[in-house]
Amino acid sequence: MYIAKENRYNTMVYKRCGKSGLKLPAVSLGLWHNFGGEVTYENSKKMLCAAFDLGITHFDLANNYGPPPGSAEETFGKALRDALGPYRDEMVISTKAGYYMWPGPYGEWGSKKYLISSLDQSLKRMGLEYVDIFYHHRPDPDTPVEESMEALAAAISQGKALYVGISNYGPEDTVHAIEALKQLGVRLLIHQPSYSMFNRWPEDGLYDVLEQNGVGSIPFSPLAQGLLTNRYLNGIPADSRAAGSSIFLREESVTAEAIDKVRKLNALAEERGQTLAQMALAWLHRSPVTASVIIGASKLEQIVDCAGVVERMAFSEEELVRIEGILAGE
Ligand code: NDP
Repeated sequence: MYIAKENRYNTMVYKRCGKSGLKLPAVSLGLWHNFGGEVTYENSKKMLCAAFDLGITHFDLANNYGPPPGSAEETFGKALRDALGPYRDEMVISTKAGYYMWPGPYGEWGSKKYLISSLDQSLKRMGLEYVDIFYHHRPDPDTPVEESMEALAAAISQGKALYVGISNYGPEDTVHAIEALKQLGVRLLIHQPSYSMFNRWPEDGLYDVLEQNGVGSIPFSPLAQGLLTNRYLNGIPADSRAAGSSIFLREESVTAEAIDKVRKLNALAEERGQTLAQMALAWLHRSPVTASVIIGASKLEQIVDCAGVVERMAFSEEELVRIEGILAGE
């Protein structure tokens, strides 16, 4: 039987998410890869329990995570039944809808019909009565944003979600969503953008919008899917995402140019007395808008490493300038 470690809250840092009452751990765990029906359940469960023991209270899911789609939510539901269930009130569980999930006109994008049906399915797969955060996963160019936001607000009023978020929305769409929710008496809690040292689009307007509106940010793929770690310093390991069947990180993405930067960043991280993964996560926390970051992991040790970010979060001006130089290819 799993019993959570008593010291689980001793080291993790918790940050307020925007202007809300909800605090999130500096590091959250996502179940996009490595928790589906095609991997060993025991490893998935081990990682989830180890994360919780490290003070990682937030777990991020989506309807389509797997493969096959839906299976990550099933894995998570099983882990709740087998181990973590007694700690439900100590956890922040999120799910999303927006990408393709089932055939026909109601299985993807942003209609109220799709979003509410999908949330009902997610709750069933996880065996939950409610999620803490329900996200619209991507903007829908053809559905009025008011309708998608009405669906999020309905999730709250129906007791199926406590808070709502959006993901992959650009700055203008985000303003639109905030306004639409406001009309319905609901506050946007959080935005989930891709953001890392190698992918800085949120700095071009989005973070300003979030700051002005008191909305928190939780970057996904903060390690550029593993590039911003020691994983690829000496080639492409056989058990890595780039060598596997993921279509999202291919061997071609591990370029000589990227690895040259990774080596230099790694040397700076060593000077700071931390790993590159830790430095890459700390760097995202340099903005007060960042409430948490969502890492992925294939191994327990990776989660332990990432949770260690809290030991050194601050940067000197000189270090930040050096990082800019490395990223600019100097
Ligand atoms: P990361 O950038 O954190 O990449 C995770 C991968 O990096 C791991 O699978 C592992 O690679 C490697 N890694 C992690 N920690 C370490 C470490 N300490 N040392 C060495 N290697 C390490 O994030 P993901 O791309 O996995 O995304 C994280 C989460 O973000 C997802 O699970 C999901 O919840 C969310 N997300 C949301 C999206 C959205 O549209 N809203 C889209 C994508 C993700 P390896 O597997 O090779 O071991």
